[in-house]
Amino acid sequence: MTDRYFPDLMPSPGISRESLPWWEAALEGRLVVQSCTACKAERHPPAPCCNRCGSYDQGVRDTAGTGVVYTFTVVHKPLIPGMPEPYVVASIELDGTEGLRVVSNLVEIDPSEVRIGLEVEVVFEHMSEELVVPRFRPKS
Ligand SMILES: [Zn+2]
Repeated sequence: MTDRYFPDLMPSPGISRESLPWWEAALEGRLVVQSCTACKAERHPPAPCCNRCGSYDQGVRDTAGTGVVYTFTVVHKPLIPGMPEPYVVASIELDGTEGLRVVSNLVEIDPSEVRIGLEVEVVFEHMSEELVVPRFRPKS
């Protein structure tokens, strides 16, 4: 069991046929990127087919679970009543990929201390038995 950062009322992410393997990996505590079985091209977010070779045969590859803050914003006026504020939404450039980025939340940091280039690591927030959301915290 991990710490909780956001309340149950936070809207669940939309899960598509293409993104399901990504969410299933998160449930297992793995941060992955989509990887083309035919040509090994990688992408995130997942897509139905490879934008390099056109193959529909897509798998996933584990990442190190670390990266750097590419950009971010601090939300002071949440659209959903009851959300904690302020909170941080960030685009994280994943280590060991060709510049692939994941949009998520930064946690365990004062929003005023977030900087572009900050080194971060994934932390998995168990929202329910069926939903685990990868978020990021400063690298320890
Ligand atoms: Zn391909």
